[in-house]
Amino acid sequence: MFNDRYRKSREQFKRGLRTLPGGVSSPGRAFSDVVTPPIFVSSARGSRFTDEDGNSYVDFVLGLGPVILGHGHPEVVRAISDQASKGTVYGMPTTIEYDLADEIIAASEVIDLVRFMCSGTEAVMTAFRLARAATGRERIVKFRGGYHGHSDVAIAQATKPHMLSIDGENIRSGLATSEKQDVIISEYNDSDAIKTLVDAHGDEIAAIIVEPVATNMGLVPGTGEFLRTLRSLTSDRGIVLIFDEVVSGFRFRYGPVADQIGILPDLITFGKIVGGGLPIGALGGKAEIMELLVRRGSVFQGGTFAGSPLAMAAGLAQLRVLRDTDAYAHLDHLGKILCHSLINEFRERNLPFGAQRYGSLVSPILQVAKESLRDYSDVGGQDAKLFGRVHKELMDRGFAIPPSIEEPLFLSVVHEEHQVKGLASAYADAAFS
Ligand code: PMP
Repeated sequence: MFNDRYRKSREQFKRGLRTLPGGVSSPGRAFSDVVTPPIFVSSARGSRFTDEDGNSYVDFVLGLGPVILGHGHPEVVRAISDQASKGTVYGMPTTIEYDLADEIIAASEVIDLVRFMCSGTEAVMTAFRLARAATGRERIVKFRGGYHGHSDVAIAQATKPHMLSIDGENIRSGLATSEKQDVIISEYNDSDAIKTLVDAHGDEIAAIIVEPVATNMGLVPGTGEFLRTLRSLTSDRGIVLIFDEVVSGFRFRYGPVADQIGILPDLITFGKIVGGGLPIGALGGKAEIMELLVRRGSVFQGGTFAGSPLAMAAGLAQLRVLRDTDAYAHLDHLGKILCHSLINEFRERNLPFGAQRYGSLVSPILQVAKESLRDYSDVGGQDAKLFGRVHKELMDRGFAIPPSIEEPLFLSVVHEEHQVKGLASAYADAAFS
């Protein structure tokens, strides 16, 4: 029997199936890993949103990362509406691009120059192109369980279940054979594996791309040893090291994780938070590589909406709030409470589950007696069926979490302690039932 709670969302999804392939604009939104139907949001404010059925939720999805100040932060809204009243796109440069670039450059030792685009996908795609131009090589190394957007190179050899079509066909359809052959997969946090790979293929590899804190296989921090190994191998063999900080950039501190952990890559990709909730991607790095981009060099990248005035204004407003308040201390505090509360609530119910976190991103661990998640096979070893039930129960109780065990729980500055503790308690209840 269908639960009437989602009647309008179900009706809307049926309507969407007639007009959008699979009913969605991005595959994860079809909620295919869980039993809850896709939920249609009608409005959002602060830490909460309301769906088309009028149900209200505390939001731990938060746009999958950008909404770090909560929905509709007044400074961000004001910046967007002020800019909109002055025009949204000009086909000419604006000084807000320079203002936002100044913030990003000041936040990292690695970054001399920044290029703005419209998505994380584009930032990664351009990073690959630059790395190939800089090295004269073609192969790209990624780590299992990573997600780096949907360019051909980024999805070649992809391993994610929700990226398969409903008949289970691999999403690699439509790619050139060369792209599939150019991409090599290694294991996250496995220094020996990457050493062996680089020993064998170092002279063919243009770039290694990695999330220093992995946010697409739950929340799995890269170990210092693993990330240092990547840095030294790439330096020795003339390979470009790309940190994909589309999620982690400005999430844990005012800048990329790279400078926090003291391991500096050659290029860093940003997105999400630096656009204040509007579509954005940004690529930063040392001048010697970045100047390969036209019009200094010969690597092409461009776009009608690249450096969009609206996204620049929203991003700048969001960064200024993050810079000028104690946002990161507060986010870290909330992350700690969520992680500890999950562990305690599981323990109180004698459930053999755990949780891990980095700053304000948290992953429950739904696997018996597993202390921590270190790589993609750990993430895949969790009880996906149980997660599906937990997701439904939480949504029914008004706690919205991402519809995949591979996404962490996101926190914002405006979440309150009681909401975070409420989620932990409801999560454990749901896992118990
Ligand atoms: N890199 C990482 C690490 C991501 O998580 C994502 C998207 N979640 C991307 C790149 C792609 O960004 P976008 O969706 O803005 O294209």
